[in-house]
Amino acid sequence: MDFNLNEELQLLQKTAREFAESELKKPAREMDEREEFNVEVFRKLASLGLAGLTVPERFGGSGFYESNLANQAACVVLEEINRVCASTGVTLSVHMSLFSSALNKWGSEELKARVLPKTASGEWIGAYCLSEAGAGSDAGSLSCAARKVGSEYVLNGSKLWITSAPYADVYLVMARTSNEHKTRGISAFIVERSRKGVVIGKKEKKMGIRGSATSEVLFEDCRIPASNLIGEEGKGFTIALDTLDGGRIGISAQAVGIARACLEDSIEYAKQREQFGKKIAEFQGVQWMLADMGVKLEAARLLMYRAAFLRDNGQPCAKEAAMAKLFASEMANKAAKDAVQIFGGNGYSKEYNVERYFRDAKITEIYEGTSQVQRIVVSRALIS
Ligand SMILES: Cc1cc2nc3c(=O)[nH]c(=O)nc-3n(C[C@H](O)[C@H](O)[C@H](O)COP(=O)(O)OP(=O)(O)OC[C@H]3O[C@@H](n4cnc5c(N)ncnc54)[C@H](O)[C@@H]3O)c2cc1C
Repeated sequence: MDFNLNEELQLLQKTAREFAESELKKPAREMDEREEFNVEVFRKLASLGLAGLTVPERFGGSGFYESNLANQAACVVLEEINRVCASTGVTLSVHMSLFSSALNKWGSEELKARVLPKTASGEWIGAYCLSEAGAGSDAGSLSCAARKVGSEYVLNGSKLWITSAPYADVYLVMARTSNEHKTRGISAFIVERSRKGVVIGKKEKKMGIRGSATSEVLFEDCRIPASNLIGEEGKGFTIALDTLDGGRIGISAQAVGIARACLEDSIEYAKQREQFGKKIAEFQGVQWMLADMGVKLEAARLLMYRAAFLRDNGQPCAKEAAMAKLFASEMANKAAKDAVQIFGGNGYSKEYNVERYFRDAKITEIYEGTSQVQRIVVSRALIS
């Protein structure tokens, strides 16, 4: 058993870390303050090959897919990016772990050749449209409809909470093709933003990941070629869930990245802030918070890499991905709470980053399945 990253992954880590340090720190604060995503920074990141990790080389990917390392590589990069900017982190996670990997696994060669080179290069940003106003945790009850008319499908309905919706160029959309069966009546489609009838609705005002736009997407008699169906008709819910296994590993990496930022900033602060004539790092009450953060961060990272390893090697990983996301997201929230505590009054101020980490961490317990949903997935696997 080897717990070290191989040479390629170490190099990738270095590239992502240097990019995050030099190019992302300032935009991270600005994006949060202005509630605006910086697409240019994303394209720069993509130009380093960091957006094509789940795409095969023949479609412009970075080569990790062929070495059965796509998800592990995504974890390496997502940890580094989320350590500095969770808004860019979630955009990248949805783009690679939800959009591109689903299209690569389930799409036709023609569709893959048309779309994947654009997402791998970052020319196009991908989004994932499952949730609706009435279908959140119970996503299988979705009602957005896709009706087959000749050689096309016509989409009608609306999707809610869609990450990257306003600046995405292409969407993976789960829509109902039959009312006879609940989840077996759902199919998955690739819908380009440029199609007539794609309308971007209200942008949510959010607590955290404020740099990432989250909006409604409406489909109004939106016609797409039947060839934009991925997988078979009726397979959409299976595709959505399978894709979420990879997505949850990506959100684990987001949580690990945020928690690492909390730990690193807390150590630095505790080593320079003095009270009672001592550095606060010398107080056991502070040391124990740091120790707990460090231990749980390592445990979350191991769960994350194990799930990523299984997925990269084609083994079932629904339970392991849910475990990783559940543990990492709850760990990140505790780390962020303790980081604010270690910073005292400064932790509550926008002068420091930990209040942003605190707000950003919360979403990891909600999207791509809440912590309650992860516990359902894990417990079902344990007792089945
Ligand atoms: C910032 C943000 C970005 C998002 N991005 C996307 C995206 O890109 N694409 C997309 O499709 N969706 C996205 N979502 C939607 C997200 O996945 C849903 O919000 C999430 O799945 C929860 O659904 P809900 O909000 O409808 O909550 P509900 O399902 O209404 O849940 C409310 C509460 O009830 C609990 N609950 C529900 N069912 C059960 C149960 N059976 N047992 C125990 N407790 C239960 C939940 O855990 C939660 O605590 C995003 C959401 C946010 C906030």
